[in-house]
Amino acid sequence: MRIFDPHIHMTSRTTDDYEAMHVAGVRAVVEPAFWLGQPRTSAASFYDYFDALLGWEPFRAAQYGIVHHCTIALNPKEANDPRCTPVLDELPRYLVKDHVVAVGEIGYDSMTPAEDAALAVQLQLAADHGLPALIHTPHRDKLAGLRRTLDVVRESALPLDRVLIDHLNEITVKEAKNSGSWLGFSVYPDTKMDEERMVAILKEYGLERVLVNSAADWGRSDPLKTRRVGEAMLAAGFDEDDVDLVLWRNPIAFYGLSGRLDLDVQTTDPTHEGNSVLRGGA
Ligand SMILES: [Zn+2]
Repeated sequence: MRIFDPHIHMTSRTTDDYEAMHVAGVRAVVEPAFWLGQPRTSAASFYDYFDALLGWEPFRAAQYGIVHHCTIALNPKEANDPRCTPVLDELPRYLVKDHVVAVGEIGYDSMTPAEDAALAVQLQLAADHGLPALIHTPHRDKLAGLRRTLDVVRESALPLDRVLIDHLNEITVKEAKNSGSWLGFSVYPDTKMDEERMVAILKEYGLERVLVNSAADWGRSDPLKTRRVGEAMLAAGFDEDDVDLVLWRNPIAFYGLSGRLDLDVQTTDPTHEGNSVLRGGA
C-alpha cells in the first residue's frame, strides 16, 4: 500500500513516527502551515517556521525515505491577532518557492471579520501564484462554516476545482461535493471522524476527489490513520486500486495542480545549513 498523507504536521512529531509511517507505506506528505498552540507574538515568528517547513523538515523526512512538501499561509486562528497579520504582506516571497504546493491552511476558526479578510486575501494570492488552496473548516458550527467558506470562494478568483475543503464529515460532505471542490477528511483517534465512518462515506459518496489525512499534530492524533483507512476499505470490499486512488493518486492529482510536486526523495547531504541529525557526528 503506497500512501500520501496530504495533511500532517510533522514538525510536532518524532523520528519514531517517521519510521513507523515508512513501514506502513507512507512515501509522501504535505505539511500545512498552522498555529503552534502557543500564540505567536510577531510576524517574524512565522518566517522561521516557514523556513523550517521548506528546509529542515524535508531534510528530516528524507532520512526516512519520505518526500515532504508544504503549504504556506496565515492560519485562521492567528488571522485574528493584529500582531500576526503583517505576515500576509510577506507571503508572496514564500509562495514562489518550489516545495510550496498550495496556499493553506486558510479558512475559518471563529468566523470573524478578520478571518473573512485573511481568507479573501489568501484566495487571491493562490490565484495569483497558480496555486491551489487548502481550506480548513471549523470544528464548531460546521455547516454554517462550510457555507460561508463556499460563498467566499465563489466570490474569489480561485475556482472551486482548485480548492480542497478539509475536515469534512457526514454533515458537510454533501454540500462540499456538490460545490465541485476536492474533499478532505481528517481521521482522528477518538473525535470527529474514524475509519469506519470514513468507509461509510466512501460507500455513499464515491472515491472521486476524496483525500484522507491523519492531520496528526501535537494533540491526540495518529500518523498511521491513513493506513488504517486503507485496511478498513479492503475489509469492506473495496479493492487495492480503490485504496491506491484515495491514498495516493487523489493527493497527487490535487497538489499536482501546483505544477511543483516532485516525488523523488532527494538523496540529501548529511547536513542542512551546517546542522546534522547525526549524533556524535560533525
Ligand atoms: Zn492541520
